[in-house]
Amino acid sequence: FFPVCRAHLATHLKDRSNMPFSKSLKLNTGASIPTVALGTWQAAPGEVAKAVEAALKSGYRHIDCAWAYGNENEVGEGIKASGVPRSEIFLVSKLWSTFHRNPTKGLQESLDKLGTDYLDLYLMHWPIPLNGENKSHPLVPTRENGARDLDEDWSYIQTWQEMEKLIDTGKVKAIGVSNCSKEYLEELLKHAKIVPAANQCEVHCLNPELELADYCKSKGIVFEAYSPLGSSGSPLMKEEAVLEIAKKNNVEPGTILLSYLVNRDIVVLPKSVNPTRIASNLNIVDLSPEDIETLNHLADGDKQKRYCNPPWGVDLKFKGWKVLSTAK
Ligand code: NDP
Repeated sequence: FFPVCRAHLATHLKDRSNMPFSKSLKLNTGASIPTVALGTWQAAPGEVAKAVEAALKSGYRHIDCAWAYGNENEVGEGIKASGVPRSEIFLVSKLWSTFHRNPTKGLQESLDKLGTDYLDLYLMHWPIPLNGENKSHPLVPTRENGARDLDEDWSYIQTWQEMEKLIDTGKVKAIGVSNCSKEYLEELLKHAKIVPAANQCEVHCLNPELELADYCKSKGIVFEAYSPLGSSGSPLMKEEAVLEIAKKNNVEPGTILLSYLVNRDIVVLPKSVNPTRIASNLNIVDLSPEDIETLNHLADGDKQKRYCNPPWGVDLKFKGWKVLSTAK
């Protein structure tokens, strides 16, 4: 009994010494992932470096970035300015869709901009290969009819197989996906040597993704919630049920929105460039099973809502990965 306890305590203390924010989950690689990350999408130039610095100084140890956000340089500056050693930070970036045929290049661009030589987690941003040769738009190249220029001779499965090779380079500690429905994951797992460590999707009380969360858990895939506050302007903070639960628990509505997900063992990525809000988003509380159940069913009927659902992306409600070759 005693040696087991000591071993447990050692892991616990080690986690805590590296990561001031207390709760973390285990990836299928064995690494710890802190459950609250700073989101960096739409953090305007000139603001994001300060936001990253403020977040790290207030205790964050997980930063969520992407090549597509166009601000990885500044994230790198913020990390440097914080004085927090790179080894204490769980740093994530994402492979953009125009790099599906060449993840090595996409990764290197992110590493160079972030000023680091490895990522703790590298995600396939969307399971949608776009034609990287078409320079009509830096993010979503289009055809003459305005449709997204899908790379129809390439599949996200092949992309994944290329990403698997990145592990041996030591430049990524773990790989995962984003915006993958159950059907996308099922197809991927038929061909994968490495099970994705994480799946990052839009998840919040009006889009709780209960089934997808269960599926990810059953496969040992950590589920991550983007837009946990409802994205720009944090509209979910005005939901009546959220306000009531906040009042009952004597905390801010934002604390309820984030705690709801962390209580479900889901990683949250709140974005803020405001130091006070950045710090308050680290405040996670235990919610009662009743409160969680209320939030689980807030979207029942016709209240389900997506805030980040670009027309060129894959609607998670689509069933079947073959939608890739037919969607406009
Ligand atoms: P969030 O749900 O995190 O909401 C961000 C908005 O909430 C901003 O307007 C922010 O304003 C405001 N806000 C943050 N904290 C508070 C607070 N405590 N009180 C009041 N307002 C607050 O939206 P995002 O869509 O940005 O999602 C979060 C992150 O998820 C992204 O930044 C990105 O890292 C990731 N993401 C990933 C996607 C993917 O495809 N994989 C897609 C979308 C997002 P302010 O900054 O002024 O505080």
